[in-house]
Amino acid sequence: MGPSPKKPVRSGLRPRSQLVYSFGPLGTDGDKSLRDLLGGKGANLAEMCRLGLPVPPGFTISTDVCAHFVRRGGRYPAGLEKSVAAALRKIEREVGKRFGDSENPLLVSVRSGARVSMPGMMDTVLNLGLNDAAVAGLARRSRSERFAWDAYRRFVQMYADVVLGLKAERETGADPFDEVLERTKRERGMRSDTELSAEDLRGIVARFKSIVLERTGAPFPESPEAQLWGAIGAVFGSWNNARAIAYRSMNRIPDSWGTAVNVVAMVFGNLGPTSGTGVAFTRDPSTGEKRFYGEYLMNAQGEDVVAGIRTPLSVETLERESPRAWRELLRVQKLLERHYRDMQDVEFTIEDGRLWMLQCRTGKRTGIAAVRIAVDMVRERRITRREALLRVDPESLDQLLQPVFAQTELDAARADGRLLTRGLNAGPGAASGRIAFSAKTAREAAAGGTSVLLVRNETSPEDILGMQASVGILTARGGMTSHAALVGRQMGKVCVVGAGDLEIDAAARTLRVDGKTFTGGDWVSIDGSTGEVFAGRLSTRPSEVVASLSSAARPGGSRKTGKKRETPIVQAFGELLKWADEARVLKVRANADQPDQCSNAVAFGAEGVGLCRTEHMFFGDAKIDAVREMILAESEAEREAALAKLLPLQRADFEGIFLAMGPRPVTIRTLDPPLHEFLPQDEATIRKLAKDMGVKPERLHFTVESLHEQNPMLGHRGCRLGITRPEITRMQARAIFEAACDVAKKTGKKPNVEIMIPLVGTKRELDLQAELVRATAEIVFREKKRRIPYLVGTMIELPRAALLAGEIAKTAEFFSFGTNDLTQTTYGISRDDGGKFLPAYLEEKIYADDPFATLDREGVGRLMSIAAAEGRKARPKMKIGICGEHGGDPRSIEFCHTLELDYVSCSPFRVPLARLAAEVPSHSVVRRPSLCRTTWTAIFERSEPRFSWLRWTGCGAWPAVSSETRTWPTTSHRTHGCKRSNDLRGTRGAVPA
Ligand code: ADP
Ligand code: MG
Ligand code: MG
Repeated sequence: MGPSPKKPVRSGLRPRSQLVYSFGPLGTDGDKSLRDLLGGKGANLAEMCRLGLPVPPGFTISTDVCAHFVRRGGRYPAGLEKSVAAALRKIEREVGKRFGDSENPLLVSVRSGARVSMPGMMDTVLNLGLNDAAVAGLARRSRSERFAWDAYRRFVQMYADVVLGLKAERETGADPFDEVLERTKRERGMRSDTELSAEDLRGIVARFKSIVLERTGAPFPESPEAQLWGAIGAVFGSWNNARAIAYRSMNRIPDSWGTAVNVVAMVFGNLGPTSGTGVAFTRDPSTGEKRFYGEYLMNAQGEDVVAGIRTPLSVETLERESPRAWRELLRVQKLLERHYRDMQDVEFTIEDGRLWMLQCRTGKRTGIAAVRIAVDMVRERRITRREALLRVDPESLDQLLQPVFAQTELDAARADGRLLTRGLNAGPGAASGRIAFSAKTAREAAAGGTSVLLVRNETSPEDILGMQASVGILTARGGMTSHAALVGRQMGKVCVVGAGDLEIDAAARTLRVDGKTFTGGDWVSIDGSTGEVFAGRLSTRPSEVVASLSSAARPGGSRKTGKKRETPIVQAFGELLKWADEARVLKVRANADQPDQCSNAVAFGAEGVGLCRTEHMFFGDAKIDAVREMILAESEAEREAALAKLLPLQRADFEGIFLAMGPRPVTIRTLDPPLHEFLPQDEATIRKLAKDMGVKPERLHFTVESLHEQNPMLGHRGCRLGITRPEITRMQARAIFEAACDVAKKTGKKPNVEIMIPLVGTKRELDLQAELVRATAEIVFREKKRRIPYLVGTMIELPRAALLAGEIAKTAEFFSFGTNDLTQTTYGISRDDGGKFLPAYLEEKIYADDPFATLDREGVGRLMSIAAAEGRKARPKMKIGICGEHGGDPRSIEFCHTLELDYVSCSPFRVPLARLAAEVPSHSVVRRPSLCRTTWTAIFERSEPRFSWLRWTGCGAWPAVSSETRTWPTTSHRTHGCKRSNDLRGTRGAVPA
């Protein structure tokens, strides 16, 4: 129940400042800069008034009043009643009607409006001020009995719902008011509300009022004054309703903001066939195309358009139906877009052929539209390149890269009850395929030309080729950084993980979910953007951008032919990222380990490979057997024989990678995972392998068991393998250097090689491995009669390595933060098992974010900053990067900036995102002497619901900051010659806690 409608109770406090802001022909107090005080809706109504646009007059009660109301348990500040009365008198003068008059009544709408638009706040009440006397006056004045009773009917219904809290029944969803309406229409054999006569409506209003009396025990308030204060109280009260609180905590909106209340003179779209109401966007919000886009309904009011009561018409048909209003609307929308310098979303009403504007705000848009609009507006010289870069949320670029389901397909599938369950949306996009329960069947089916969806409880490195062959991956267990999610993203696969409802019996080849049973070969579809799983097949297509980039990546692709027949969105995407690249200091590399992944990465703009996981290469058909023979070999001779088989295979892989990457740096990590991951597990494979190796199966069994580890992640892996089995490192180094020499010979250009030793915790470990690598290099160079420059460095992925980075840097020529393992080892949480309790930890707010998804600045970040500082002290020009999954997370990338890393490395499909995210911080260099000692200098809002903040890191030179545009002038490191680490950097992100 809303608060009871009564006059405001004064708290006895003096008003702090102006409480009520009028807008209208007799004077407008506010403007768009007062958004914090007037809310978005109020500030923009005032601004439109100032621009001379047709806005019905009204006033806004400030958000300060809301704060007061909330703090003082529903009391208003002193003077509010008087100010509201005065503002109301002003509207009366402006429109020539009187509030509460029975001859010529002024009707108003009461609307909420916070700084950012907030679903969950109180709905709007229209036509407030009507009662039994006023409705008669309205009928006489408008010469339409029907219109007056239609307005009254709407008012009573809205007020009862919104202010008096007479909501629909929770369980049945039955709304008593709608029932009355529907019953009357049924009895009269009518389809649409517009067919109801004045008499029908009069009867309906009477019924409505008796429902109110029955349910609340009090009659419907007749006094317009009481109605008004009832509605105002309900708006302020709704700031603290459960829906609003939940929305705020999800979106990190401070509770202290409060909402404003807007009271606006009514204009009527339901006055007859020459009136109507609509909503429109100045550009297409889903494609970004520059065309005026909208919908409207004639003879309708308020939300009728969105409520789906009748099918609305496309806004262009207004040209015929109401030419004068159409021309005016076109003029207004152009003017608004130019004024706000961004795509606007507007609400309008046509009253008897005359246009009125009721709202404007920056329009919400898809990622695709965001890119296109930003780039188009630069071309139109409306905004600068840097503004364009800030307007696109890096995360939203994913939408441009993933295959898509058509919306109609999704709607149909949901309506048919084909939605089975939901998991985590680990790899965005859409995929339909036939179920395969093992990597092997996936590969076989894919080889036969089938689209395959790999469905497993969880995946392991053994499944890599099956994953590669599948269009999508669906798992029942695991989190956002599980093997399936990580590898899926690197491959750009659509991926839904941790769908706990799935009961997978891989042996029986059945999947049970939602009471249905599927077997291998059945069609299932997954939407990696929402995590939804559907029965059956939904058609997909690759996104335009990917189609274009991958054709460009192929030799002789479209780019090379010189002819550009790119779609506007592909062009815009390319252009935006080009601007980001030009402004960027932080480099972006990709985690890739196959030649085709490398070509893709380059097409997506990667400037190198930051992590090439050599073990992924071992899972190829011929290779895995040789790897197993190498691991299981008992004598030096056996092992050398197995390594000799592997050498040419690895060399071929590296050649492909070097060819794809050209002169760009390629960081290759020596073998890292525990050996047991490569071992055959099932009896049949062991027997076959024993036969191939010419040994007894029993012996193989024994060896396999002896390699078993309790805790493989902390076991015999990383450089520990290279230390105990130096021949592996030696073989890998040889393969790398031979490939590099061969490519140099073939192409005349030397590859840029960086060899990275994993899981180092002491300098001595690295010394031993580096020595091996260097010795092997010398041998190969002598054999090949050429030298290739190369670096040997290490991953920093153990806390000990971070703490002793100064020591390790004496040997290491570069560092790369392996933040997956570093997070794992810092927290002491196994990434593979964390899924069991991490959700509870997030729920309990023990962790603010999943540390495997967003870098933990306080703990892991502290270790990183120690390592970076000590490393640079020992070796000033040392290259430092990051190659964990965090390299593709915008918030983590921002942190990499504060450490002044040289590059971030992420999966190829995250590269465009990283290019954009990596640009912003480095380029927003602002300097102001007065801010020297503050840590957080400014928090300012850019556009809802995103915020930007600036962070002081200390600097020495100061151009002025323009407060007028509320954006900060920017200079890059290079142009102002400021020492790195000595700037104030601005970036996107959430408001810092
Ligand atoms: P929301 O924030 O949910 O969009 P609004 O306050 O903007 O709510 O209003 C809901 C609907 O009522 C919109 O279609 C708006 O155009 C219409 N409306 C609001 N005030 C008036 C008014 N004074 N005259 C006519 N229509 C109005
Ligand atoms: Mg609105
Ligand atoms: Mg690691």
